[in-house]
Amino acid sequence: MPLLDIKTILSLTALTLFAVAGAMSLVMGRELSPAARAARGSLIAQAGGWTTIVAAEFIWEMPLSVVAITCGSLANLLMFKALEGWLGPRPGKRLLYALCILMPLGYAISFQSYPVRVGWANILLAVQFAIVAVAVLWTSPQTEEKGWRVLLALCYAPMAVLTLGRGILGGWFTELYPTFATPHPINVAAQTAANMSLVLSTVAVLVAWRREVEMQLERQAHTDPLTGLLNRRGWIKYADMMVAQARRHQHSVGVLMLDLDHFKQVNDRYGHEAGDRALMLLGQCMTSTMRESDVCGRLGGEEFALLLPRVNEATATALDERLRKMYQTVTSQQMGITLNFSSGLAFCDVAHADALKKALMQADAGMYQAKAHGRGRLCANADVNITIPDQLIS
Ligand code: GH3
Ligand code: MG
Ligand code: MG
Repeated sequence: MPLLDIKTILSLTALTLFAVAGAMSLVMGRELSPAARAARGSLIAQAGGWTTIVAAEFIWEMPLSVVAITCGSLANLLMFKALEGWLGPRPGKRLLYALCILMPLGYAISFQSYPVRVGWANILLAVQFAIVAVAVLWTSPQTEEKGWRVLLALCYAPMAVLTLGRGILGGWFTELYPTFATPHPINVAAQTAANMSLVLSTVAVLVAWRREVEMQLERQAHTDPLTGLLNRRGWIKYADMMVAQARRHQHSVGVLMLDLDHFKQVNDRYGHEAGDRALMLLGQCMTSTMRESDVCGRLGGEEFALLLPRVNEATATALDERLRKMYQTVTSQQMGITLNFSSGLAFCDVAHADALKKALMQADAGMYQAKAHGRGRLCANADVNITIPDQLIS
């Protein structure tokens, strides 16, 4: 069987990487998130690395080799950054940054000694690959999705092992491994793996990017653009999940509904922009008052809701009071007018399937009772004996 020519594979890898990087730019467009941009940058850096390593075989061996391995380090760093964007903080960041500086530096300094530079560069590169492989598989609070992550790990883990092998051979058994272009089995295996991971990592990056776009659309569909809070649809979705949790763990869930008082007058007297500002300020006050497990949303117009797991009437009333005081202070300081709201509090009877619906209805009735009793107050556990209108929960 004729042996594969390493330089030919290398040149093909570089060429294909450039084609892939170009194609990615074409299909991903200009409006990219920092994570997607970093992933694409990683592929471009890899292409640059392979090209310069081939070129170094012919001219300017020392500077081009240093550029090549710097590109390799940069590619790993950029992939790590993409993973941080997609999956949240990853372990090994500082070590990776240190390796990305030390690797080209040590390589350049020790260039005259073949075993030292080859051993140093490959072993440090192998650790970089391993850090990226671990970062891919490390648990993420943002997604439970596995597919593309397993695929990407399957690219980086073999590269880590083969590169480590190259480092050990080059550093300690140099006669077995004269240069990386020698048709040694480990070179053939490493180049074949590099070629395969080029294809597989492109697929993984495209899938990760598509998931990111999907999640962004879902977030938009559940978010109120003015306040940044959940909109009615998003609030119902998360509130339903919290009620289901409360049913399993048998704990209480309160629903606090708020409606700004005389809000139409704010718009009429001070303009729509002032009205918008008043809504935004209430959103900010609510998020700074609530706990992490509370669900805060703008249900529509000047009507807001807070779902409060594990509260009793006293703690919910105290929260309402704190929020009211804060909102009055903030609107007076920032808008020159003191605004207030009326609110209704109700508790979910979690044993029932339509617990949330009923609590919303009751909190809504409480809010209207508060309006009837002069506004600017909370009314808890109002009586409701009417059927639930669909628009309250749709
Ligand atoms: P009440 O004290 O009885 O609640 O009276 P109100 O004036 O607050 O309530 P009403 O329902 O009469 O008016 C609500 C107003 O909220 C009418 C609408 O123009 C305004 N509004 C709804 N959404 C927005 C918004 O996004 N921005 C602004 N600036 N105003 C809004
Ligand atoms: Mg109102
Ligand atoms: Mg209203």
